[in-house]
Amino acid sequence: MSNDLHRLVYYSRNKVAGEPGALEAAINGILAKSRANNAKAGVTGALMFNSGCFAQVLEGPREAVEEVFERIQQDERHGDVSLLAFGPAEARSFENWSMGFVGASVEDAARYGSLGPESGFDPSRLTGEALFEILHGLALDEENAD
Ligand code: FAD
Repeated sequence: MSNDLHRLVYYSRNKVAGEPGALEAAINGILAKSRANNAKAGVTGALMFNSGCFAQVLEGPREAVEEVFERIQQDERHGDVSLLAFGPAEARSFENWSMGFVGASVEDAARYGSLGPESGFDPSRLTGEALFEILHGLALDEENAD
């Protein structure tokens, strides 16, 4: 039973500083590595970056999700990693995404007003379920836009 489908939701604070473009390059690197690693491990999910915070949903066999999250927590590109939810899930919600990146567009920020950079989006005020719903909603929007 230990390898049943599980879902994990966390947020963290960005620690990538420097030249404009450094953060974008870091996110692109994280996404490329995540997509390769997660596809091999059977992990799916979505990552969002907003107002200095990362928020991420990971889903897959329990042990695979735990292994990925162990590595993520040790990554010095972010800090204050806060686990909001981890538990069994009935089905995958990001089954087509080894790691999608959501919420980057101006339209997304407008649709989800609380995500706008000027709103000071603070995931610490959200429950794991609420953060999951935001990322899932954005992922569905992206899929429908294709
Ligand atoms: P390698 O790529 O060989 O890396 C070895 C070590 O170097 C690791 O400790 C890594 O943290 C560090 N490292 C690598 N590149 C850099 C860099 N440019 N700057 C600083 N340190 C670096 N990984 C996943 O597999 N799946 C995910 O879903 C995922 N999501 C992430 C979300 C966020 C917000 C962040 C910050 C990272 C995420 N990562 C994810 C990356 C993860 O933290 C590890 O870097 C990665 O899994 C290590 O892959 P690897 O074992 O193949 O080691």
